[in-house]
Amino acid sequence: MTLFKYPFLPKLVEKYSGIPISELSAREINLAKERVIESIRRGVVSYPSDYEENVVSYILAMIIVASIGDQYLRRRYSLAEAKTAYRYLKDEEDILEVAREIGVDVKERNRGSFTIPLWEYLKLSKTIRDERWKLVNRTLINGNVLLSRREVARLLMEKIRSEIEERVSVKVENIPSFLENWVSEIKLELEKRKKSEFKGRIGGRIPPCMIRIMERIKSGENVSHQERFAITSYLIGRGKSVEEVISLFSSSPDFDEKKTRYQVLHISGEISGKRYSPPSCDKMRTFGLCYMDEGCKGIRNPLQYRGVKIDRERRSKKQSKREG
Ligand code: SF4
Repeated sequence: MTLFKYPFLPKLVEKYSGIPISELSAREINLAKERVIESIRRGVVSYPSDYEENVVSYILAMIIVASIGDQYLRRRYSLAEAKTAYRYLKDEEDILEVAREIGVDVKERNRGSFTIPLWEYLKLSKTIRDERWKLVNRTLINGNVLLSRREVARLLMEKIRSEIEERVSVKVENIPSFLENWVSEIKLELEKRKKSEFKGRIGGRIPPCMIRIMERIKSGENVSHQERFAITSYLIGRGKSVEEVISLFSSSPDFDEKKTRYQVLHISGEISGKRYSPPSCDKMRTFGLCYMDEGCKGIRNPLQYRGVKIDRERRSKKQSKREG
C-alpha cells in the first residue's frame, strides 16, 4: 500500500491508465492541474492524502505536460515530481522496493548502508556535479559502490526524473476536452513564471554564453563547476546581489543553500577579500562554453559584452540620424 506514495511506478501507471474518462472525478482532474501549477510555481508537488487520487492526478498531469510540449515545463515538472519522491525515499524503509520497481539494482549491506553495481552508479551519477560523487571519492566493494540511504535516494531521484521527462516528451495531440481548459490556464502560469525568471530581472544585453548557463540552471539541470563560477562572477560583476545569485541556483536539483551562499560570498569577495572576474572569452572557449554571436566581436571578457553592445547601438542610431 505504501508504494502508492510513488505514483510514477510503472505498475501503478499501468493499472490506473485504463480508467474510463467517465469515471474520473472532478477532484482528480482539478488535482492534476494543481500538481502542474505547483511544479511551475514552487518546483515541487504536494501529494494528496488519498493514494488513488495521487496516482490518477499524476497520470493526468503527465498528459497535460506532454500536450503543452514545452521543454522548460517538461524539465521543471519531472524534477518537481522526482524531488518529492526523494523526500520520502531518503527516510523510508521502502527504498529497496521502489528501486526494484524502477529497475535499479540496489542491495542492503547493513542497516543504513547499501551497494549498487559500478556501471549503474556511473550511469545515474553522471549528471550530479558535486565532488563527492566522483568515483575517486567513493568506496568500492567487489565492483559495487558503497552508499548511504540518502545517497541511494539521490540516485533514484535522478532515475525518476529522467524517466518522467522521457514520458512527458511523448507527443500528445488530442487531449480530452475537459483537460483543454486547464491547458490554457497552465500556459499562462508558465509564461508568468518564465517572465519573472532571473533573465527578466537582470536586464538585456547578456552574452549568449551566460544566457545558456542561466537557461540550463532554470530548467533544473545541474551545471558544471566552471559554469557555476562563470555565471556567479558574471552576475556579481553586473552588480547583482548575493541573494539574487543564490535565488538563481535555487532551481538546481542539488541546491544546498548553505554551500551555495558560501561559494557566492567567496566569489563576490565578501569572505575571500578578492572579487573574482568571469573567465576570459578564451578560457570560456576552452571549457566549451562559448556561443559567440554578432555582439561578441572584439571582446575579451563576457563582462564587456553589454558596454560594447550599447556603444554599437548608439553609433548605429547616430549614423541612421545622419543619413536621414
Ligand atoms: S565570445 Fe565571450 S561573451 Fe561571447 S559567447 Fe563567447 S565567451 Fe561569451
